[in-house]
Amino acid sequence: MNRHHQRSDDAPAIELKHVTKYYDETPVLKDISFSVERGETKIILGGSGSGKSTILKLIIGLVQADEGEIWVEGRNITRYGERPLMEVRKRIGMVFQEGALFDSLSVAENVGFRLYEQGELEEDEILEVVRKTLGFVNLEDAIEKMPSELSGGMRRRTAIARALVGTPNIMLYDEPTAGLDPITARTINELVLKLRDLEDVSSIFVTHRLNDAYTLANERFIQENGRWIVRRELTDPSRINTHFIMLKDGGIIFQGTEKALRHSGDPYIKRFLI
Ligand code: ADP
Ligand code: MG
Repeated sequence: MNRHHQRSDDAPAIELKHVTKYYDETPVLKDISFSVERGETKIILGGSGSGKSTILKLIIGLVQADEGEIWVEGRNITRYGERPLMEVRKRIGMVFQEGALFDSLSVAENVGFRLYEQGELEEDEILEVVRKTLGFVNLEDAIEKMPSELSGGMRRRTAIARALVGTPNIMLYDEPTAGLDPITARTINELVLKLRDLEDVSSIFVTHRLNDAYTLANERFIQENGRWIVRRELTDPSRINTHFIMLKDGGIIFQGTEKALRHSGDPYIKRFLI
């Protein structure tokens, strides 16, 4: 895959600066600041309603911040209108909660959706991209299926493939393993590792499953005897470019490494980690 990094390569992939967001009169995010560096994966943990999905929606401009700034690849997108936001969204792949596939469209049409909408490529060119992307998530054989014929794991992989069309530099995953059995969840996590370690994709991974978080924080894709395999990083965890944020009631109560998270004395965090 070709990912064209921009000139402002040293700017973080994503940066939130003192972001506050209200729904009606209620603040759902309060003075949120963090950044995702290039190639980094940021795991956002937090209970239901803590504001995780809202953070992702702010980054793709689906909702607007009331205070503060949002930067994507060195650009302040906070006040962007629809047209420039479309350009930003081309660089970002979003995997929505529940996968959110179109049930009346085939896998090929779901995955190629953006390309069909843009109308810039011929049908066979779109199918070529779709086939390649489905290959990346090991779903070539499902290209003609309808979403109702897919298992839960296949649906999520289809949603990831759809987000990957256009080779985004940034991926946003909103609870991509929710409701999946542990083995299927593992295949999704390995896909996220593959994108981080082989494709250098920057990402935010929202989850409330600690198993996901520990997989991403401790394992890497490496090449061994010409094959790519997933390996636990036993010697130097800092080689894994993954860090944590914990949200509570719209505020950040923790930012740092897995080790620091595990050693936190905060009673809420300790309860969350059980
Ligand atoms: P999470 O993803 O962590 O479960 P959300 O970001 O979806 O949390 O929601 C944060 C809070 O904002 C919740 O209390 C939720 O009910 C509220 N909320 C989310 N979307 C809307 C909306 N469109 N209108 C009003 N309130 C909303
Ligand atoms: Mg959510």
